[in-house]
Amino acid sequence: MMPPPDASLTPPSPSGLDAVEHEIARACRDARRDRATVTLIAVSKTFDADAIAPVIASGQRVFGENRVQEAKGKWPELMARTPGIALHLIGPLQSNKVKDAVALFDAIHAVDRDSLCEALAKEFARQPRRPELFVQINTGEEPQKAGVAPMEADAFIARCRDSYDLTISGLMCIPPADEAPAPHFALTAKIAARNGLAKLSMGMSADFATAIQFGATHVRVGSAIFGTRPRPI
Ligand SMILES: *Cc1c(COP(=O)(O)O)cnc(C)c1O
Repeated sequence: MMPPPDASLTPPSPSGLDAVEHEIARACRDARRDRATVTLIAVSKTFDADAIAPVIASGQRVFGENRVQEAKGKWPELMARTPGIALHLIGPLQSNKVKDAVALFDAIHAVDRDSLCEALAKEFARQPRRPELFVQINTGEEPQKAGVAPMEADAFIARCRDSYDLTISGLMCIPPADEAPAPHFALTAKIAARNGLAKLSMGMSADFATAIQFGATHVRVGSAIFGTRPRPI
């Protein structure tokens, strides 16, 4: 019998993360893009510290959460253990959670209304931290979904800058679940280009390769890395 491999010599390498990395590299080659232009956000919402730790041990450093409260409960300790982790808030942000969000997160992906801009501007006057901001575009104009309607995007982005003095880094979108994502990625990229925004947060487990084809700089991948979520979100 072969002796078991020495676990201390091989860092844990979750197969999900490896497969996603492989697919990102392939999509970048196909799109003739440098791999370094795409940031993988490992979406760890609903997973506890024990499930996240092996992914950190494999070298992943950028993570996404969709709830401020949940992130506050598990990330400070994980971040204290491993320096250099960046945390992205990918879910909707209520104004009363802005203080905690600015303190904890390095990027906020769902800026979508004036009241939130106002709360962020106020908080920036109190805290020196400046998370990167993405404006969410509701490309499918779905009533239940957060985000600015495509028709209102240019005016909203202008107000972020001119009325609230916020620096917007890019745009984010979540295509409707039952539609081909490509037209939604293309629309988001077009709105970003005409507003001079360099970053595009788009693409999830099912469609990140397509998103990379359409210029995504940040892909938000959860279940393909961590497996099926223990509870619905
Ligand atoms: C949960 C979530 C993701 C990741 O979804 P998967 O399909 O598990 O990859 C990406 N973006 C947002 C906004 C999410 O809420």
